[in-house]
Amino acid sequence: MKRVFNFNAGPSALPLEVLQTAQEQLVNFNNTGMSIMELSHRSKDFEQVHNEAIERLRKIYAVPDNYEIIFLQGGASLQFSMIPMNFLQPNKQADYILTGVWSEKALEEAKLFGTPVAVASTKDNHYKNIPTANQIRFNNDAAYVHITSNNTIYGTQWQEFPTTTVPLIADMSSDILSKPIDVSKFALIYAGAQKNLGPSGVTVVIIRKDLLEKTSSNIPTMLKYSTFTYNNSLYNTPPTFGIYMLGEVLKWVEKQGGLENIAEHNEAKAKLIYDAIDESGGFYIGHAEKESRSLMNITFRLADEELEKQFLTEAKEMGFVGLNGHRSVGGCRASTYNAVPYETCKALADFMIKFQAKH
Ligand SMILES: *Cc1c(COP(=O)(O)O)cnc(C)c1O
Repeated sequence: MKRVFNFNAGPSALPLEVLQTAQEQLVNFNNTGMSIMELSHRSKDFEQVHNEAIERLRKIYAVPDNYEIIFLQGGASLQFSMIPMNFLQPNKQADYILTGVWSEKALEEAKLFGTPVAVASTKDNHYKNIPTANQIRFNNDAAYVHITSNNTIYGTQWQEFPTTTVPLIADMSSDILSKPIDVSKFALIYAGAQKNLGPSGVTVVIIRKDLLEKTSSNIPTMLKYSTFTYNNSLYNTPPTFGIYMLGEVLKWVEKQGGLENIAEHNEAKAKLIYDAIDESGGFYIGHAEKESRSLMNITFRLADEELEKQFLTEAKEMGFVGLNGHRSVGGCRASTYNAVPYETCKALADFMIKFQAKH
């Protein structure tokens, strides 16, 4: 069996041992004589998988008791709409910090429900950085503040979260569970699973209970957070296989020794590639400013487009997958999510050094 060096931005690499467990259990889950996909979502066997996944996530992130953990569908993109639909009233303002295309999209959706305001943006700097605290002017009466903790396309990441007096909401799709965070700083955290948590199809939301009391009226049942919190995410059929895979990924995170260890590992992995960039004397040019660099998505260019094409072609021949930058920005991007092994990052760094010597 040949596994590639997978740097896909999402869906992305999963831990090999999780895939192997899923393979072993695929046709006969827990001696039920059925696949997990063939079980009723109301069965004891599935309910256990479901509840264990919630409890594991609660434990790993030390989620306080006044928060609910729910599983939704529709990806992070549906959260762009659900957040203002539930929490932004027509006469109200919401603060958005623009650090990339995903935050722009989130802001656009909010316009349908109220008045979102871009209280900071680094667009003029080609989204190469995260704004500093003194560049953000919060509105004290905003319904909430929305940030994107890691900017998947540009390769920037908040190093320290902003402090506000209003509910802080974060799109953590591309760096959830990559390091310890203080959940109590946030009113709502959301993430599509397909980068750090499992396959696509399930979206994790961690929501503080008091926020639910601020829900607007006249919201369709399936678009209301409280439908999911009241029914333990089992109002209708949830994405059962995705939740099972999420549970297995969470077991794997525990086995790695938790988030401190995961973070250390992620730092070491990213350093290999950032060092190859920084020590190249300008052969590789990092997109993100150093203080804003992401440990999950490493973005860089080469001196000219011909060379860049050559780099991507040779990399492909060597078994590297997913190194093309996002279609909206071009260049190169290595996504080094939790499940990407150190050896894979080492192989890329070595390849980068060799490619430079050759060209
Ligand atoms: C991938 C990504 C999204 C989009 O997620 P979908 O699940 O495809 O809707 C949104 N925000 C961030 C930060 C992402 O990385």
